[in-house]
Amino acid sequence: MAAEDADLIASLAAQGPVKMHLVLTPQTLPDAPSFNVIADLKGSEHPEQVVIVSGHLDSWDLGTGAIDDGAGVAVSMEVVHLVRALGLHPRRTIRFIAWMNEENGLMGATTYAQDHAAEAGNHFAAMEIDLGADHPLGVTIAAKPEVRELLAPVAEVLAAGGSGLLQTSEHAGADVGPLAALHVPTFAPIQDSRTYFNYHHTAADTLDKIDPRHLSENAAVMAVTAYALANLEVPLPR
Ligand SMILES: [Zn+2]
Repeated sequence: MAAEDADLIASLAAQGPVKMHLVLTPQTLPDAPSFNVIADLKGSEHPEQVVIVSGHLDSWDLGTGAIDDGAGVAVSMEVVHLVRALGLHPRRTIRFIAWMNEENGLMGATTYAQDHAAEAGNHFAAMEIDLGADHPLGVTIAAKPEVRELLAPVAEVLAAGGSGLLQTSEHAGADVGPLAALHVPTFAPIQDSRTYFNYHHTAADTLDKIDPRHLSENAAVMAVTAYALANLEVPLPR
């Protein structure tokens, strides 16, 4: 239920008894095959080392899943597009992933981490964006504290767009969680999420909630950070 519907009910309930007609449609069906979508922009020097940029492909079906997480998938695809359009050749591979089944059990991310556990050492870093499309304030770092200093030049670049904050955290996101458990450093944009939960998982999660300018700002944060990680001269401490 969207926040404005909840507010309406609260306001009516304050005036007297409220009668509601609920149509509940969810069913639990058996598991069926589905897939992560993965694309590599090959690194020029260390193609075996991977920097992931990602969002999740599935959504709740009340709305169209524009902010959760169509925006994250679009922004992550845009990272690869921007790097190519600028004619850049990152030293490490930038891997785009649209994770399947974040919402109903994290199966895509869990399966990926299982399948790639032996190459966890070659997963240099993993980024995820899954908090809508609003203005990014900087970058969340779920890694060793020293990583924050390594990213200081990145913050300097991002500060011009109002995104220069670097914040260390225990977690950078659900889908990169299984990789974090394998000691892969994980990252996410810090997003202005003040209105996110007004729309999240409701019929109100539609494209009109997305400001193209904010979407571009998120793409800039993801692209600058991913490119910097893909070109970093030193390994990230784990
Ligand atoms: Zn999500």
